[in-house]
Amino acid sequence: MEHLSVTHAQKLILDSITRLETETVRLEQSVGRVLAQEIRANRDLPPYDVSAMDGFALRSADVAGGPAELTVIEDIKAGDLPTQTVVAGQCARIMTGAPVPPGADAVIRVEDTQEVSANRVQINKPVKPKNDVRPQGENMRDGDVVLTVGTEITPGVIGVLATVKAAQFAVFRRPRVAILSTGNELEGMDEPVDPNKIPNSNSYALMAQVQALGIEPVLLGIARDDPAELEQYLRRGLEYDVLLVSGGTSVGVHDYVRPTIEKLGVQMKFWRVAMKPGHPLAFGMLPPTKVPQAAHCGTLVFGLPGNPVSSMVCVEEFVAPALRCMMGNMRLYRRTLSARLANPIKHQPGRTEFVRVQLARDEAGYSASATGTQSSGVLLSMARADGLMIVPAASTGIAAGAQVTVQLLDGTAFQDEIGFRE
Ligand code: AMP
Ligand code: MG
Repeated sequence: MEHLSVTHAQKLILDSITRLETETVRLEQSVGRVLAQEIRANRDLPPYDVSAMDGFALRSADVAGGPAELTVIEDIKAGDLPTQTVVAGQCARIMTGAPVPPGADAVIRVEDTQEVSANRVQINKPVKPKNDVRPQGENMRDGDVVLTVGTEITPGVIGVLATVKAAQFAVFRRPRVAILSTGNELEGMDEPVDPNKIPNSNSYALMAQVQALGIEPVLLGIARDDPAELEQYLRRGLEYDVLLVSGGTSVGVHDYVRPTIEKLGVQMKFWRVAMKPGHPLAFGMLPPTKVPQAAHCGTLVFGLPGNPVSSMVCVEEFVAPALRCMMGNMRLYRRTLSARLANPIKHQPGRTEFVRVQLARDEAGYSASATGTQSSGVLLSMARADGLMIVPAASTGIAAGAQVTVQLLDGTAFQDEIGFRE
């Protein structure tokens, strides 16, 4: 099988996914989720014309000719209802958010007035009709669709939901994700330090990448490179909506992951992507008939490379977008920005390369410099990175000072951005 391009592999994955079912959540627990129902306004807000300032509600015609003295007929605080109509020569003292009384068509802020006596005020300058009046329904009108299906629930959206008194509503369910590490050389977190072993970092780094999406994954532990043991672990993993397996996906004689998952009924879509790091990436699906309790698109299985940086990059580029898609999110990929390359990069054409970079800002914009050795085993250079610089597959190297695309390691793209473009 040939190597797929990164974008082709991303498309194959997204084409195999459907959004998960919906569930009801309470407003207080909903930040980060994605709306599965439309939300409408249940009244006009503000409910009537209100003042935008502390000041005086008046008839603009009374002050059109310049400074004028008016009689203050009442005090209207936020929460009060006016009891009188303002007629010629009159005004009402009004607080921000209080209803503009009948007869008045404008508000003048207190700074532009002068008290003459307890019920007389001097208006220092003319105001136009509607000045500092927030019209009824400016915020929202009764019956308006204020939020649509697919909206990610941000703090601003929470404010809108609270405004329309949506105490609970439908969101898309979060996928249940299992993470399995494989390898005889791996040492578990609770095991004593053995100089001949490699600490299992992948389970935790991948866990954190999944947690950052608001999903609490289940860590299945470490399976040895033994077909029978691996099969047992994989069977458990296939009970989830998504199974991430790290290590054992290459073509070494002890790389049993691919044959074992195929034996368990997983249909492989691809297992090689033309990227660096990350190339032995396998993707397959267990059809839904074999997992009645799982999502209706079945179990998605990602066979990730064992190298710590490779597996993290594969989660960024393939797994996280898939999980966002299952949760109904329309923003699937990380946001990119353009930066100046600080030091030249060598590149052999053939594979898309993701270079870990740190960003700095100066008058000319952003500059990107590699975080150190780019070996796929060096996690510290990932830990120091702000983003992944994308070196197109066809590139023959990039000179210092050239503009490059950097995909950030936090935040998602704007709604109309689809991943990165080479
Ligand atoms: P593999 O893909 O199984 O050939 O593993 C490639 C490299 O990644 C080897 O050097 C492994 O020791 C390392 N590796 C595999 N799994 C993990 C893990 N869970 N944590 C840290 N390193 C790992
Ligand atoms: Mg291995």
